[in-house]
Amino acid sequence: MIITMKKKATETEIQHVVNKIKNLKFKPHIDKGITTVIGIRGDTSSVEIEEFYLPGVEKVCRVTKRYKEVSREFKPQNTVVSVGGVKIGNGVPVIMAGPCSVESEDQIRKIAKKVKALGANILRGGAFKPRTSPYLFQGLGVEGLRLLKMVKDEFNIPVATEIMNPSQIELFESYDIDIYQVGTRNMHNYDLLRELGKTNKPLILKRGFSSTVEEFLLSAEYILYNGNSNVILCERGIKTFESSYRNVLDLNCVALIKQLSHLPIVVDPSHATGMRLLVPPLSLAALACGADGLLIEVHNEPQSAKSDANQQLNFDEFEQLMTEIKKRHGKN
Ligand code: PEP
Ligand code: MN
Repeated sequence: MIITMKKKATETEIQHVVNKIKNLKFKPHIDKGITTVIGIRGDTSSVEIEEFYLPGVEKVCRVTKRYKEVSREFKPQNTVVSVGGVKIGNGVPVIMAGPCSVESEDQIRKIAKKVKALGANILRGGAFKPRTSPYLFQGLGVEGLRLLKMVKDEFNIPVATEIMNPSQIELFESYDIDIYQVGTRNMHNYDLLRELGKTNKPLILKRGFSSTVEEFLLSAEYILYNGNSNVILCERGIKTFESSYRNVLDLNCVALIKQLSHLPIVVDPSHATGMRLLVPPLSLAALACGADGLLIEVHNEPQSAKSDANQQLNFDEFEQLMTEIKKRHGKN
């Protein structure tokens, strides 16, 4: 339920509403913009709308969507997620870059150094890899986390990597990982979403490759409902009948989610296309339609990468793209 206060509502009137919510054993969410909007968290079907027409209240209504806390109705102002001094969702695109998989100390050090020098804000690399085939490289596992921690400290750059199940949360904590990524295959792993919701870790939640926008936002709702609003959505392409490329980048989803939700959304043009040549134009298209950032796979030797060799940019290609992005959008 959402209570919109009048523009001239006093602090006492706002507090009165907040106290009433707490007396009913609900938790309020207060969003202070030009007008103050107070959301009541949880299942409010037992609460009468009329009860909240208190002094200073302009309007009381129920959230019509199946997702509540994720919706812009509940929180009109954009959420900005902060990670080690980097802000995601503040209007300047954030660039997350790095290899599909962390492969060795030498590889991740070279890539971290280069992407940082070219202006990437966050280093992203997979340690635990959810591969379609059990015969393919599955990632370095814990050793990958150790290497990420090493380059994080050496180059002073926040790091993001994929988490696959709730039992890994403590492990990721111990390696000081800054952002946990929930991959496309785990968007429906509700146990994982629930447990991550109980932390306050910044998360990248990738859209399931066959999920609707509503299902995507309901997965984010699991996280917010459990208490964590540090969620960065990520559109990474969906399966369609088209087989000319790996997936189809659904930019409609980006433009729509900017309307439906206050959460930041970034785009992964690497997995969305699976083709190196398509990554730069679709990166620019994603930013043009309002994406808050990009997640781009970059490798020192893409042709010999242990995973996703066809879609990783080499250093020159990444440099050219960064130059273009900075020209158009400035630097975060
Ligand atoms: C990845 O980011 O390396 C990855 C496996 O992505 P996705 O979950 O989108 O396939
Ligand atoms: Mn990959």
